[in-house]
Amino acid sequence: MAYRIAGETGEWEVVIGLEVHAQVVSNAKLFSGAATAFGAAPNSQVSFVDAGFPGMLPVINEVCVEQAVRTGLGLKAQINLRSVFDRKNYFYADLPSGYQISQFQQPIVGHGTIVLDLADGSTREVGITRLHLEMDAGKSLHDQNPTKTYIDLNRSGVALMEIVSEPDMRTPEEAAAYLRKLRTILRYLGTCDGNMEEGSMRCDINVSVRKPGEKYGTRTETKNVNSIRYVQQAIEYEAQRQVALIEDGGVVVQETRLWDPNKGETRSMRSKEEAHDYRYFPDPDLLPLELDAGWVEEIKRTLPELPDEKKARFMADYKLPVYDAGVLVAERSRADFYEEVARGRDPKQAANFVIGDLLGALNKTGADIDSSPISAAALGGLIDLIADNTISGRIAKEVFADMLETGKPAAQIVEEKGLRQVTDTGAIDQAIAAVMAANADKVAEFRSGKDKLFGFFVGQVMKATQGKANPALVNEILTAKLKG
Ligand code: ADP
Ligand code: MG
Repeated sequence: MAYRIAGETGEWEVVIGLEVHAQVVSNAKLFSGAATAFGAAPNSQVSFVDAGFPGMLPVINEVCVEQAVRTGLGLKAQINLRSVFDRKNYFYADLPSGYQISQFQQPIVGHGTIVLDLADGSTREVGITRLHLEMDAGKSLHDQNPTKTYIDLNRSGVALMEIVSEPDMRTPEEAAAYLRKLRTILRYLGTCDGNMEEGSMRCDINVSVRKPGEKYGTRTETKNVNSIRYVQQAIEYEAQRQVALIEDGGVVVQETRLWDPNKGETRSMRSKEEAHDYRYFPDPDLLPLELDAGWVEEIKRTLPELPDEKKARFMADYKLPVYDAGVLVAERSRADFYEEVARGRDPKQAANFVIGDLLGALNKTGADIDSSPISAAALGGLIDLIADNTISGRIAKEVFADMLETGKPAAQIVEEKGLRQVTDTGAIDQAIAAVMAANADKVAEFRSGKDKLFGFFVGQVMKATQGKANPALVNEILTAKLKG
């Protein structure tokens, strides 16, 4: 289903490419030993290297390199055994050295792919152009003093992976799916925590529009959008703006724009700088980065099972529908939780409880599965009570709600509340006899061919037994008795 913007001159197609800055999970910075913890007091995590003092020399942090390689492998990308660090020169108050150390023509990771999981269950591949390592800049604080700007250099020198996509996306939803999938992969790998609110994952959006089949139009770049919802809104806004501009006889200029979440619009920040404006050159303080192929192989061996493979396995081994599998693998801890619940039990029933009941409940309180008040073992215990006919599926919902509230094990709740299912045929016989006696007219109707009334009798018997009669037995006995 193609997404098109209807303009006055016909339909327009939107072309989207994303650049993501992902902060590397590491204790120390890319080129210094200073700490990287989030939320520390301003300027408390700054070495002389990060402060750009003259004569200080950068020393590469092997952990950050390993994290970049791990990420590249997770994106099924080419790992370049030789890469080069360059200086990207520009002046800004929060960049004390006057240059950012980045990688330009020879990045550590080359072409890769990400598989998008779309809402209708289909998938679509998006190309990764490159991933390179670079240092972050410091942070300017404009809101601390009416006349001054303060500088916090804690972030200066923190390792970032810039992950650049091909212009392969065509809808705001695909861009959202891309970011969700990338974040899932980074979290599985443990290379970035993916927290967009804390800024550890930031996204620049490149958008252009064209008439379907024509060549790419001029793009604009909207910087540092910090939530997936804003990314979708900014793309939508920017595409509409470009269409209106072109149809009005104007031209899109390549520029850098800002997203204003309060106004819901993008606005021009500066004309787009070109690579040559930065006067890139190889950093003379750093040797080219040369990796040993054996070391890369070793990292590859330690990769966890990734979401795409896990999803395929869940569908093959547990016979789960694509939707269930996709929801369960979206977080590694969620998938692990599910597998513990499913072990030795009906996998589809386990998926229904985890997705429908547990995730639904957690969603309401905003909690994640790691802090679930019901453990995997406890949820498994509830399902066991259904399997061995202690309770019916309907009563299980009631027990589940109680578990969520009290944290008690299912078996205890069943005993305390007397919810054990009635499998005593004598008691069921009695209930059925009473219901039939009280509804003699309906019995007659049923016997004269109104089959649909069967459900009515089941409902009445369940009501008479407070929902505790074993449904299979009720069906069996009722069928026999109604035949007369
Ligand atoms: P720059 O540093 O100039 O931003 P990059 O190569 O880092 O350039 O990133 C360019 C980004 O723009 C990529 O994500 C790419 O997919 C995207 N892009 C390139 N051309 C277009 C286009 N015509 N429309 C939309 N996105 C584009
Ligand atoms: Mg860029």
